[in-house]
Amino acid sequence: MALGKDYATQECSIARALEVVGERWTLLVVRDAFYGVRRYNDFLVHLGIPRAVLAARLQTLIAEGILDKRRYQESPPRDEYVLTARGLALWPTLRALGLWGRDFLNKPDLRTFRHAVCGTEEELGPYGECPACGTVVPVADVELMPGPGLDRDPADPVSRALLKPKRLLQPLETEPV
Ligand SMILES: [Zn+2]
Repeated sequence: MALGKDYATQECSIARALEVVGERWTLLVVRDAFYGVRRYNDFLVHLGIPRAVLAARLQTLIAEGILDKRRYQESPPRDEYVLTARGLALWPTLRALGLWGRDFLNKPDLRTFRHAVCGTEEELGPYGECPACGTVVPVADVELMPGPGLDRDPADPVSRALLKPKRLLQPLETEPV
C-alpha cells in the first residue's frame, strides 16, 4: 500500500503544518529564502536537488502562501521567490530546529545568529530572542554569521556568498562561477 501524503487521522496542528512543510527539502527551501536566496538557480546550486523536485517544492510553497513569486526581469522572463508574512512566521521553528540539531545531534557550529542592531556577540535563543536586550528579534534584524564548522572553500556560489556575515532576508549577492 502506498504511503498517504497527509495525516488524515490526525486531529493535530503539528500534523497540519507538516502536510505543508514536512516534505523532504521543503524546509530547506524556506531556510534558503531566509538566508536571502531568491533566484531559482541559486536554490538549485545550493540545494543540489533535481530541477523537478525544486520546481514542485516552490510550487507548493507558493500555493500555500509561504513564498511569493515576483517577476524581476521581463526579457528573458525571470522570477524571484520571496517569503510572505506567513512564511516569515516559520522563523522561530527553523531557529529552534537548527539549535536542536546542533545540541542533540552533535553537529559543529555551522552558522550562528545574533541581533544585528544591539551589537551583542551573544547568540539568539531558541525562539529567536536576543539574550542581551531581551527582544524577540525581527527577522530582518538577525545577522547570520559563518561558524567554525563550515567548509571554507565550498564549490557553489551561494555557499561562498554565505561565508560572509549578512542580515537574513537581504538578497544574496552571488558572484558568477
Ligand atoms: Zn539585542
